Amino acid sequence: MDPSPLPLPADAPGLRLESALQLLAHSGVALPGGEPGSEAWLQGLVDALVEISSRDALTGLANRRAFELALAREIDRVARSGEPALLLTLDIDHFKRVNDTWGHGAGDQVLRAVAAALVDSVRPMDLVARIGGEEFAIILPNCASAFGETVAERVRRRVEHMPVAVAPGQQLNCTVSIGGAFAPQWVRSTPTLWVERADQQLYLAKAQGRNLVRLEPTAVSVVSNEERRLLFETFQFQDHE
Ligand code: GH3
Ligand code: MG
Ligand code: MG
Repeated sequence: MDPSPLPLPADAPGLRLESALQLLAHSGVALPGGEPGSEAWLQGLVDALVEISSRDALTGLANRRAFELALAREIDRVARSGEPALLLTLDIDHFKRVNDTWGHGAGDQVLRAVAAALVDSVRPMDLVARIGGEEFAIILPNCASAFGETVAERVRRRVEHMPVAVAPGQQLNCTVSIGGAFAPQWVRSTPTLWVERADQQLYLAKAQGRNLVRLEPTAVSVVSNEERRLLFETFQFQDHE
């Protein structure tokens, strides 16, 4: 059977395939298989470009862009299903000291090691992202509020007990402060509000001494005025249907 016709010829000047292929080769992502220029090959190329545009180059975690997309999706899911979901935001404690004492390369080693420890301490369905220099976030879908503290503590302890080799014969330990907030169930929130809530708890953890977990209490009263307004608008919208 003839392959389906391409939407655009592979050598079309506007496609700039050469740059895309160079970028992929440089990032270490596998080049697409199949006949160059075929539809399957172009799809493989698009998939590989999507992959590198959603990953953080240093740690391989989801980057901020992918995180924000996942967060918006999770809010939709929580609002539809009412299933609880937890957002954790994490910041390495006194990370500047690591760079200042051991150099930027050692700092990068610590970032990679923390990233691996975070992935290791949660479920495959949870999304771990690097959202800033030494800031990370974890989205935990379907996480019951009774387990929030346990999961966050497991993550914190995992990092605390992980030695990182920063130079031959030199190991160091680092810690993270963790803030967390559950998505308000049955209430439409926004990614920004959800992150702000988790971050407020993270600031508390920092202020109260670092290497700590602080989770927002899961009472109805924590729903902000803006979320109430969103809920109200949703009901109005349904009334008019
Ligand atoms: P705190 O406990 O309050 O969080 O203190 P801190 O020193 O971790 O916080 P601060 O925000 O002062 O420092 C963060 C440092 O992270 C500063 C910056 O040089 C470093 N940093 C940011 N991105 C990277 C990176 O990609 N690699 C390395 N090695 N360092 C980075
Ligand atoms: Mg920071
Ligand atoms: Mg820090």
